[in-house]
Amino acid sequence: MVVRGGDRGFVTRARRWLAHGFLMGLIAGSLWLTGTQAQASGERVVPDLRNDPQAPGRRAAVRMRIAVTLHVATMGDRPALDPRRLERAMRRANEALRQFGIEVFVARVALMPEGFAEIKHRRHRRALAGFAPSDGTVHVFLVDTVELGSLLRADRGVRGLHWRYRGLSRKLRNREYVVLGNDAPATTLVHEIGHLFGLEHDLGRQNLMCSCREGPQQVFTRAQGVEIRRGAAQFISRIRG
Ligand SMILES: [Zn+2]
Repeated sequence: MVVRGGDRGFVTRARRWLAHGFLMGLIAGSLWLTGTQAQASGERVVPDLRNDPQAPGRRAAVRMRIAVTLHVATMGDRPALDPRRLERAMRRANEALRQFGIEVFVARVALMPEGFAEIKHRRHRRALAGFAPSDGTVHVFLVDTVELGSLLRADRGVRGLHWRYRGLSRKLRNREYVVLGNDAPATTLVHEIGHLFGLEHDLGRQNLMCSCREGPQQVFTRAQGVEIRRGAAQFISRIRG
């Protein structure tokens, strides 16, 4: 099920948000590089040093910049997720990924129609796939509530999940995405990106791939970093191919 924009009320509210600069603020936030179009690149990219006083040393090593498409679920009159939480999650993701030469950035923000704030059942997850074409970007859905129906992989029940299509439909082949609930801590996004690039869970409490993780100190190991790079390169080549 893909709901498209015939709802006048929705369009009116969307315009109001745009007028308030909410979505533009998400894209243009000083922590994120602004991209005018979605891209995922395995090539060396000239660092964009604007707004980043620490940039020279850290950005110089980035070889892979991976675009994120944000899909913001709506609840009544407002977006389902606090943008400040998202900002922290993006910052946390790049802290963990940059040492392995990967950076994620928000390339596009799309408002969801109403009806996707609660992702609880298989049919909900499948409906999200309709919004997540294999277009070279990592699709991240920002919702209010995530719950498990019968799901193989989700984290702490209600905070985030990584979904990958494993069925036979040609239309959905290769589709995958990440969902973040509104109570997701800052590490959830990078944890789910870890899954997206091929990592399994780890039992170490200081590891970002532990579903037990707590506190601010978690990292990826060097071996996980190698695997993430391989997974990210595959993600990019699969979409290109
Ligand atoms: Zn997990």
